[in-house]
Amino acid sequence: MMDELMDFAEVLERFDPVLGLEVHVELNTASKMFCGCATAFGAAPNTQTCPVCLGLPGTLPVLNGKAVESAIRIGLALNCEIASWCRFARKNYFYPDMTKDFQTSQYDEPIAYEGHVSVETGGVVYEVPIERAHMEEDAGKLVHVGGATGRIEGAEYSLLDYNRAGVPLIEIVTKPVFGTGDRAPEVAREYVADLRDMVRALGVSDVRMEQGSLRCDANVSLMPKGSDTLGTRTETKNLNSLRSIERALRYEIRRQGAVLAAGGRVTQETRHWNEAGGYTTSGRSKEQAEDYRYFPEPDLVPVAPSREWVAELRATLPEPPAERRRRLTTEWGFTEAEMRDVQGAGALDLVLATVVAGAPPAAARKWWVAELARRANETGTDLDGLPITPAQVAAVQALVDAGTVNDKLARQVIDGVLAGEGDPAAVVAARGLAVVSDDGALGVAVDAAIEANPDVADKIRAGKVQAAGALIGAVMRTMGGKADAAKVRELILTRLS
Ligand code: ADP
Ligand code: MG
Ligand code: ZN
Repeated sequence: MMDELMDFAEVLERFDPVLGLEVHVELNTASKMFCGCATAFGAAPNTQTCPVCLGLPGTLPVLNGKAVESAIRIGLALNCEIASWCRFARKNYFYPDMTKDFQTSQYDEPIAYEGHVSVETGGVVYEVPIERAHMEEDAGKLVHVGGATGRIEGAEYSLLDYNRAGVPLIEIVTKPVFGTGDRAPEVAREYVADLRDMVRALGVSDVRMEQGSLRCDANVSLMPKGSDTLGTRTETKNLNSLRSIERALRYEIRRQGAVLAAGGRVTQETRHWNEAGGYTTSGRSKEQAEDYRYFPEPDLVPVAPSREWVAELRATLPEPPAERRRRLTTEWGFTEAEMRDVQGAGALDLVLATVVAGAPPAAARKWWVAELARRANETGTDLDGLPITPAQVAAVQALVDAGTVNDKLARQVIDGVLAGEGDPAAVVAARGLAVVSDDGALGVAVDAAIEANPDVADKIRAGKVQAAGALIGAVMRTMGGKADAAKVRELILTRLS
């Protein structure tokens, strides 16, 4: 893009980045926040609406108790205080995708506040302070038709789908995060990955970034080294993968560095991340809170969760992420470094699910962290966005363990699964990938290899068993990599002993 960028390392010599992360989690309640409409993803447009979520005059909202329960559980998992009394507020705006023209949200009385989570990256633990987690409703969706990008620019017209209007959201906002230095982009990514795992473990959301059930806006500013005055922040939206959070922040840090170093000023604004181009563009200049004319929602009663209920909900919390990581490290017999790789690749839940599906932990780790992480990187997606399930990875490993395929063929099986050719067994059948271990077929190839390499054969006869590798390689080549290597070795040694 046009932006002047400063070298990342150079920015870090002169400035300290400060992060601020806003994460929206769409709850998986059966019905919406204030009405009984269904919330299923992908339904035909405007089939999940009613007078309440369409904001028709005379309708009254009724609060979804399950959503409050989920909000409290999220708040507790973030080590927050839970309000004993709080209210909703109207956030007034021109919302084409929300006909009421206000969002029912929480403002100065959030259900959860003052929490903290710790995030580990590169072996260092960072404390991320949580400002609040509040309840609100989602807006509908504008579908821009006719443009090349799906954005409003260049579109011929726009359609409105109100299915999402009124779906319960929890917005989790950090306090400014200081002291992450050159790890700032990774800490942000790790924080969101941890949050995702935590919310998934709570069972209150599908947390699928690519479907928008977990969305992150990333704020960042730069502080000159030695200063303690916050710089002006930008807020980058449109981040729908963990990878884009990290990339966008790195970009913004480099861009702001260049602006400040040239004596310029950073404009407080929202920015959009362009994933394909790898740059941010300017959005709207940011409203101040006053502009929204917040006021307490008169149509809803205050929320006053009893301390007994909060205690009951606390008892339902899953194991905290750090403890869980420690437990699994021991159970799986991983080293700290191996577990860090798993965590760093965002693969913990995937490895766990693969182990649950029957794979040995080391194999599950190898496939996700070595093989699949590389492919995710190549295609620019997150690991859990790859079209392969933990059960399928476990099935690939089962084929390896049964000797049906070797490691090399297993990679081709994975290619097939990723290409949508079906389950591993189906891919093996369709692509003819099974290893040949039949003595007859292998014997012919072994004899041919011995004949073609008489000098190697002589060495083996003379007792240099290591030389067998050359013959095994030759057999592998004639059989397109599909020979059972152990069997081939055995046949060679019996023939030449
Ligand atoms: P907005 O309504 O503008 O989105 P929020 O308060 O919801 O504001 O979120 C702003 C986020 O940015 C919070 O996480 C906050 O801690 C963080 N933040 C505020 N000021 C700065 C700053 N100067 N630099 C970096 N982050 C900041
Ligand atoms: Mg905000
Ligand atoms: Zn409705």
